[in-house]
Amino acid sequence: MRKLTYIGHSAFFIEKDWDGILIDPFISGNPKADFDFKKKRISHIIVTHAHLDHLGDAIAISKHTGAAIIAMVELANYCMEKGAKAIGVNIGGCLEFTWGSVRFLPALHSSSNPDLPYGGLAASVLLDIDGTTVYHAGDTGLMSEFSLIGELYNPYYALLPIGGYYTMDIKEAAMAAKMLFAMEIIPMHYNTFHNIKVNVDDFVNLIESQGQKCVPLEINGYVEL
Ligand code: ZN
Repeated sequence: MRKLTYIGHSAFFIEKDWDGILIDPFISGNPKADFDFKKKRISHIIVTHAHLDHLGDAIAISKHTGAAIIAMVELANYCMEKGAKAIGVNIGGCLEFTWGSVRFLPALHSSSNPDLPYGGLAASVLLDIDGTTVYHAGDTGLMSEFSLIGELYNPYYALLPIGGYYTMDIKEAAMAAKMLFAMEIIPMHYNTFHNIKVNVDDFVNLIESQGQKCVPLEINGYVEL
């Protein structure tokens, strides 16, 4: 079974056979999330940057399950200081696991939290799960790097922030989808807070008008990989 489940905000859970990979697990702080990590097998936790709506419960989950956090080296060191297991990487790094690989790529954003003034650069990540590519853009503004990522890696799924204010808005995310040449676009980072409210149907229409498929997921909705 291979499945990509939307936990809410920018948090996703990928299951592949007996492995479980969490991305940006903002769970206990997110009233919309309904995900009990204790009932899941967690192998790795990928964190794109240090903001608390992305680092979320990563440290607590790592401590409880023994799953390693994979993050930019400054953020990984911080997680280790807090008692979590972590693997530090930098932009361009690609790590291989039994479930597939994760490559750290640029994002145009900051990375810090009240306890960590500098968390390294913010990242986006590209996962390859047995040949199915999933690009999670993290938090980012529109950037020309999307074209390079599209040309080199041609991601099948692109998980893109659309809420504006802290990241790209709908129009910019639609441009990013085009630049990435992605087959299916899954919107994220919207409607969690009052300042990132959007009408997701506007995004669906825009993506469809450019000949791509948009798959907005409900909380705990999923696609099969
Ligand atoms: Zn952020």
